[in-house]
Amino acid sequence: MRISPAAGTIRVRARLIVTLAVLSACGTWLLGQPSTREVRVTLSEGTSMAAALSPDARTLAIDLLGALWTVGIDGGPARRILDDGYDAHLPSWSPDGKRIAFQAYLRDTWHIWTVNPDGTGLQEVTSGPFDDREPHWSPDGARLAFSSDRGGNYDVWTLTLASGEVRRLTTNAANDSMPAWSPDGREIAFVSDRSERGVYAHTVEGSAERLLAADAAAVWSPSWTPDGKSVAYVSVNGANSRLMVGGAAVSEPGEDVFPFRPHWIGGAEVLYTADGVIKRRPRAGGAARPIAFSADVAFTRAAFTPKRRNFAPDGPQAVRGLMHPTIAPDGSRVVFAALGDLWTVSAAGGEAVPERLTNDVFVEMNPVWSPDGQALAYSSDRGGEMDLWMRDLRTGTDRRLAPGGEKAAWSPDGTRLAFLDPASQLRVVDVRSLEGRQVHERLNEPGRPSWSPDGRAVVMSALHPYSSRFREGTNQVLWVQVDPNPASTGRDAFAPDRWFDPLPHKSIGMRENLGPVWSPDGRQMAAIIDGYLHAYPVSRDGAPTAPPRRLSADLASSPSWTSDSRHILYQAVDRFRLVDLDDGRVRDITPRMSWEARRTSGTTITTVHAGRLFDGRNTGAREAVDIVIEGNRIRQVEPHRDDLHRGTVVDASGQTVLPGLIESHTHLSKGYGEALGRIWLSFGITTIRNPAANPFEANEDREAIDSGVRIGPRVVTTGEPLDGTRIYYPGGVALDSGALVEGYMARAQALGFDFVKTYVRLPDLIQKRIIEAAHQAGMPVTSHEIYPAVAYGADGVEHIRGTSRRGFSPKMSETRRTYKDVVDLLVSSGMTLTPTIGIQGGHQLLTLLDGAWVDDARLARLYPASAVEPSRALRAKPVSPQELAAREALVAPQERLVAAVVKSGGRVIAGTDSPINPYALSLLLELEHYVRGGLTPADAIRTATAVPAEAMGLAADLGTIEPGRLADLVMVDGNPLASIADLRRTRRVMKDGVLYELDALLARPAPPSSVARQ
Ligand SMILES: [Zn+2]
Ligand SMILES: [Zn+2]
Repeated sequence: MRISPAAGTIRVRARLIVTLAVLSACGTWLLGQPSTREVRVTLSEGTSMAAALSPDARTLAIDLLGALWTVGIDGGPARRILDDGYDAHLPSWSPDGKRIAFQAYLRDTWHIWTVNPDGTGLQEVTSGPFDDREPHWSPDGARLAFSSDRGGNYDVWTLTLASGEVRRLTTNAANDSMPAWSPDGREIAFVSDRSERGVYAHTVEGSAERLLAADAAAVWSPSWTPDGKSVAYVSVNGANSRLMVGGAAVSEPGEDVFPFRPHWIGGAEVLYTADGVIKRRPRAGGAARPIAFSADVAFTRAAFTPKRRNFAPDGPQAVRGLMHPTIAPDGSRVVFAALGDLWTVSAAGGEAVPERLTNDVFVEMNPVWSPDGQALAYSSDRGGEMDLWMRDLRTGTDRRLAPGGEKAAWSPDGTRLAFLDPASQLRVVDVRSLEGRQVHERLNEPGRPSWSPDGRAVVMSALHPYSSRFREGTNQVLWVQVDPNPASTGRDAFAPDRWFDPLPHKSIGMRENLGPVWSPDGRQMAAIIDGYLHAYPVSRDGAPTAPPRRLSADLASSPSWTSDSRHILYQAVDRFRLVDLDDGRVRDITPRMSWEARRTSGTTITTVHAGRLFDGRNTGAREAVDIVIEGNRIRQVEPHRDDLHRGTVVDASGQTVLPGLIESHTHLSKGYGEALGRIWLSFGITTIRNPAANPFEANEDREAIDSGVRIGPRVVTTGEPLDGTRIYYPGGVALDSGALVEGYMARAQALGFDFVKTYVRLPDLIQKRIIEAAHQAGMPVTSHEIYPAVAYGADGVEHIRGTSRRGFSPKMSETRRTYKDVVDLLVSSGMTLTPTIGIQGGHQLLTLLDGAWVDDARLARLYPASAVEPSRALRAKPVSPQELAAREALVAPQERLVAAVVKSGGRVIAGTDSPINPYALSLLLELEHYVRGGLTPADAIRTATAVPAEAMGLAADLGTIEPGRLADLVMVDGNPLASIADLRRTRRVMKDGVLYELDALLARPAPPSSVARQ
C-alpha cells in the first residue's frame, strides 16, 4: 500500500494477544501496564523488497524483512527459508536452479552467501574485513560476480566457487557496483558513478569496457535482456523511479519501481518489484500484473517497563558529568569541567575535593594546561559564542584568544594553540599576538589535535571511509603539517596530509577527546582503542613502529600525558586513573563532588488561569480552566472558580495552555553554550531526548540543568551509539564481534543512561543481546532498524528513512514511500517511530512555503547566524512551481505515513535530529508536517507530549496536564488546535513549576568579573 485510501484487496491480519499483568495486592487489573505481546502479522507488501526468478520460471526468491522466502510464480503463501539475523538481501539464482546467492550481514561486514532453495546447505562464500555485495551468477554457474570495497573503492569482483579465488575486474577510481553477467558469459554489466554515469560493461577475460546506457539519474541494478543486446535497469530521479529497457521507460508514470535487478519471463515479460509488490509486465507495453503473496511473521515481545527517572532525587548526588580531564605537566593536579565550570583536583591519589576555577552560568569546557603549567586554555560561551579563552593561573584573569574555538591543544613551546573552529577547520592562534590562521580546510569532525614534539605538525583522529559510496569507515590518525618548510613557498611548503593506521580495521580514538595524544618525548602515542587505553611507539614523524599495547583494565576516556612522558591519565566511569608506564602502577583520583536538585518549594502556590487548555489526554480543548500548582507539581485542574486563584496567579486567559513539549530526537551541542537551554524553553520545549551523546557531556547537561546551574529542558539521554566495526559519527563505539557488549552495558548503567541507542552497522544478533541487557537494566533501546529489531524487542525506531547499511532503506523506498509491512509491524508491536521528516526535505519545503520564522527574534538573539543562514539563502532564491511540486512529492508520502501509523493505533514520537535544522523551531515544523499528512493538531501535539512521555516511562510525571504531574506548561497566543503554526507564538513557559517569560529567555546573562578588559 502506498499510504493512501487505494489499498485494494490487501489481506492483513494483525492479531494481538495481550496478556495483562495482575498487579498489586488488591489484585486490580491495571490498563497500560507492561504486557507480553505476541505479534502475528501476515504481510502482503514489502518496502524495498527484491525478487529473483528461478531459471525454470516457477519460483521466486524474495528478501522480505531481511530474511529469504520462496513463493510460486503465481503467488500465494511465501515460505521462509532463512532465519532472522542474517539481514539477507538481493537474491540471485544459480543457472541450474539449485542454489540461491545473496548478500548477508551476519557479523559486521557484508559477505556473499549461498543456500539451497529449501533453506538447507547455507554457506558463506566470501570472507574478510571488506563489504561484498550484490552477487550474480555466471551463466555456467562456476562463478559469482559481486561488488566490493576491497580495493579502496567499489569495484566489480568475481569469485570462482570451486577454488574460492577472487579476482578484481574493474579498476576505475569511481565506484563500480551491481554487476550482471551477460547471457553469453563474456561480459559483466555494472553501474558506475564515474563522470559519465550509467551502465557499463566489462569483458570477463581482458580489460575492454563500454558504456551500455548513459543516465544522469541515480542508476541501479542492470539486467541483460535475454538476447544479450541491451540492458534493463532502474533509474531514480527525485520522486520518479522508472524501469528502463533498451533506453525507454516501460513502467508507468508514478509507479514506485524498486531499485533492484529486473528478471525476464521468457523474452516478452519483465518481472520486478514496485509499489510494495511483485509485478510482471509485458516488455512491449500494457498493464502490469501483480503477483500477490502472503508472508506470516510471528514474534513475542517480552514485557518491559522503562525505569522511572527521578528528576529531583533527594540529597547530594555524585557528579557523573566529569568532562575532559587533563593532567598537569608536573602530574600534580587534574583540570576538568563539570556543572558548567572548570575545576582542578589534586592528583595525589584517593578522594579529594576539587577546587573551583570558574563560577558562572556559562559553559566552560575542554581545559588544557600550558606546557609550563601556569595557564589553561579552554572554551567558554561567556562572550556569546563558544570561544577559545585562556586563564592565567597566577593572576586569575581570563582572556579571549580566538572566536569560535573548541578542542584546543597547546604547542610544546607554549606559544600557540591549535584548535577546531565551528566549521571543523583546523586553526592555530598565537597566544601573545592573538594572530591566527587556518591550517586545514574543513574536516569531518576530527578529534582534539595533538602536537608533534617539534611543534611543526599535529595529529588527529579522523574518519577514513572505506569508499566514497558509503560514508562509514574507521578513525585513523591524520597527520597535518602546521608550519611551512622554510625553503619552499605556497603549497609546496606543506607536506601532503598523511594517514597512519596502527591497527587496520580498528578505530584509533573516536574523534572526541580520546587520542591519539603524542607523548612529550615524541616516542609514543596514547589513544583509546576498542574502549581501552592503549599506547604504541612511533617514529619521529608519528608513524607507528609496533602494534598498540593495552594499558587499562577498564573502559577509558580522555588520555593525557605528564611532561616526563612517564604517566598517562585517563578517565574511568567515576574517577580518573594515572598509569605509571615504568612500574605499571595505577593511581585512582576521585573528585568528591556532588550536585543537588534545584527545588521549587512545595508551599509555593501558583495558579495558571488558562483561557484554553489542551491537557494532552483528551482530544479537545477546555475553556477557562484553572491549573493549581504546588511547588513543582500540578494539584488541581478544574473549571475556573475565583477561589482557585491562590498564590501567584498567572493570567493566561488570552492564551492556549498545553503540556510542555517533548523533542524526541535531538543531539545537544555544547558549542551553543548556556543559550541552548533558553532556546528550548523559548519554544515551549521542556524535555528533550538525546539519542547519541558523549555520556560525560550528556551527564553534565542533566546535572547542570537539574541543579539549576543553567536553565533548560529536562534531558533524557543515552551515551554513545553502539555500532559495528565501521562507524561514522564521532564517539561511535565499535563493538566488532560483540566482546565488549557486557562492558559497555555495565558502563551505560553506571553512567545512568536513560536509554540505549544502537547504530546502523551493528549486526542484528548483537543488537538482540544489547536489547536483552538494556531491558534488564530498565533502559529502552532504539536504532534505525525496524526488523528484526521489532522482533527482538526494540522499543523505538529513529527516522522514517535514515542511514541504512544496505544503501537502501527497508522503511522507505527511494521515492520516499512506505508500504504496509512497515505500518503493520509498527502498529502491531507498539514500537515507537520518530519520523524526522524535516531532515528528509521537509524543513526546506516548509521554509519555502512559510519562512517567516527566519526573522523570529528567538533565532536572531539565541542562535549562531550559521543556524539560520541556509534557510535564508534558500528563501532568497526564486523557486518555480515545478521545483516546489518536486519537493512536495518527496515530502508528502512521509507526512501521510505518519498519519497512517497514528490513525491505525501506532506510536509516533516527534523528533527532528537537530541541529541539522535549527533546534526547537524544527520540532514545531515537524508537527506541522504531521498535520499536513492528515493528523488533527491535537494528535500531532500528542506526538510531542503524552505519547513520548509514556514511551520513555515518564507518563506519571510528564506529557499531560493532570493532577500529580510535574508542572511543565507552555502558553501560546492563538489556538494551535485550530492552526498548528500557532505553536510558534510562545508567550511563556513553565518548567518544574518555574515560570519563564519569553523576554527573560531572550536576555543573555552578564559575563563574570574575572574577564580581563581587552
Ligand atoms: Zn481562573
Ligand atoms: Zn540523530
